[in-house]
Order: sequence, then C-alpha cells, then structure tokens
Amino acid sequence: MQNKVYRLNLAQLPTPVHELKQLSGALGGPEIWVKRDDQTGLALGGNKVRKLEFLVGDALRRNCDTLITAGGPQSNHCRQTAAAAARHGLKCELVLGGNPPPIPNGNLLLDLMLGANLNWTTRERRNLVMEEVAEGVRSRGGSPYLIPVGGSNGLGCLGYALAIKELCEQLSSCPTFNTIVVASSSGGTQAGMVLGARLHGLRSRILGISIDNEKLPDVPYQQELARIANEGAELIGAGVTFQESDFEVEYGYLGGGYGVLGDPEREAITQVARLEGLFLDPVYSGRAMGALVDLIRKGAIGRDESVLFWHTGGCPALFDYAVELLQ
Ligand SMILES: *Cc1c(COP(=O)(O)O)cnc(C)c1O
Repeated sequence: MQNKVYRLNLAQLPTPVHELKQLSGALGGPEIWVKRDDQTGLALGGNKVRKLEFLVGDALRRNCDTLITAGGPQSNHCRQTAAAAARHGLKCELVLGGNPPPIPNGNLLLDLMLGANLNWTTRERRNLVMEEVAEGVRSRGGSPYLIPVGGSNGLGCLGYALAIKELCEQLSSCPTFNTIVVASSSGGTQAGMVLGARLHGLRSRILGISIDNEKLPDVPYQQELARIANEGAELIGAGVTFQESDFEVEYGYLGGGYGVLGDPEREAITQVARLEGLFLDPVYSGRAMGALVDLIRKGAIGRDESVLFWHTGGCPALFDYAVELLQ
C-alpha cells in the first residue's frame, strides 16, 4: 500500500475459516464454510473493525481527537467505532437515528460502556447532525474526524480488499469457493471484496445480499458499490476500475425492511445456533443466511458447489431482539 494510506492494527487477524458440516448436511449440500469476521476481536468483533484500521489510522495521522459517525440505535459500526476511539484515546460522538429507548440494550448499552457521547436525531437528519456535531467540536477547539455511515468510503473498503488477500492465504486449508455470500448494506464490505478479488486474482462469485435498499433512493446500489471500489483503487494507485455490473446483489430478501426481524431471519438464526453453536445477528447475517438457505432450497446455488458464508458479526444486537426472537 502506498503511504497515502496508513493502517492501524485493531483487529485480530486472520479470522478463522471453518466448515459448517451440520448445516450442509441438513440442507443436503452444498459444502458451506464460514469466515468468522464476527471474531475480529475488538469489542465483540464484526466487519467494521477492518475498515476502522484504515479510517482511524487516517484520523490519527491527521491529528484528529474526536471520531464522529452515525447509524441506527443498534449500529454495530457505531459500537466498533466507539471501541476504536477508546483504544486510541480519542473522543467519540455517535449520531443515532431513532428514539432513545427507556433501557439501552445490545449495542446501545455497549456504546455507553465505551464512553461514547450519543446525539439522537431522525434517520434523515443524520448527516446534517454529524456536521453540526463536528462544528461543535471545532468551536471547542477540538479536531473532528467524520466517518460515513458504515465506514463505507474508499479508504474503509481497503480493509475488505485486504480481507480477500487474507482469505487467499487461507485457501490451502479450505476449498476454492464457487460463491461467497455476504450481507451488504452501506457497501464498503462488498466493494472492498470485489476490489480485493480483482487485485489478488480470486475467481469466486461474490454475492451481496441486500439488507436494506431504502438508504440510497437516488443512487442505485450497484453504482454506489462501484463508486466506493473505484475510490479505494484510486487511493492505492491500483490502476483498476469498476462498473455497476461488477457487483452482484440479490434484492429478494429485504423482508419487512431494515432491522425488522421476520420468519426467514428467525429461522436462520435458530437453525444455525442449534446445528452449529454459532450465533448470527438479527439485522444482517441472519437475513443473509436466510437468503443463502432459500437460494440453496430453490437450486439457485447448486448442491455440488462450495459456498463461503462471510459472517460480518452483529451478535450484540441479539440482546435487543428477545421479544422478536422468541415469537
Ligand atoms: C455494517 C454491517 C454489514 C454490512 O456491511 P456494509 O459494509 O455496510 O455493506 C453486515 N453485517 C453487519 C453485522 C454489519 O454491522
């Protein structure tokens, strides 16, 4: 990597890859493996830690003293950002779209434990409020660093370009997967993976399961993925470019919308817990696994294939979904 980008060490890498034999058996094949980015090591893990290695690295290089980011009340990205801030002696301002619940639970509880300051607003006003909070930090003589929702920009996506390199180095102990399935929402994860696959010659099909398609009503999601990947490629002078058609996204599993736990998510979470002793999360990986199970049942993913389910974390949110999970 060129010296335009500076990477901090925040994650415990490589994350494990292992087979889910019982799940494969129950579904009658294909071979299903999991990449455990729920185990990236910082404050209960998750995919945002890989992006934050670059984003917080940039914040420190610029001598910023306050990280500002935004998300929903159960944002895993906000929790991981608050943890990264704590570890590097930075302040953290979180802008949360929604209403403060009477008792904070799940990620929100952890945000408070990590010492983040919470700023409540509506989902629509999050970006505006981030700017206002940044202005407030400046007026007090501080130096803010803004991280976009989900840490999804060119810099953040480099964490996932490197994750693909890491996977390639693990391929001596697992199959060369036909398909990689991953929950996709703000885009940095999938954009980085596709960039990494191009850089490292990985031929697997990378299938993003769209979790919420409501966020970018004006920009088609695949266009956004291409924009992020191109920005990342540019930062490292990779000399590669991407277009919409380089990104495969499945939009058929949006369910009741962002954060709404329905039958497919509940069934996937329960099945994987009982067959594998593995927790998925209610918002992202539960939905993506529900999609994978359905695609296998429909024959859209062949029974003779090998599939890598990329677990992106998010399990702390389970504790905020007790009512929905026990229905
Ligand atoms: C943020 C998140 C995703 C989606 O990643 P993007 O880079 O935003 O597309 C998937 N799973 C979990 C658990 C997340 O927190």
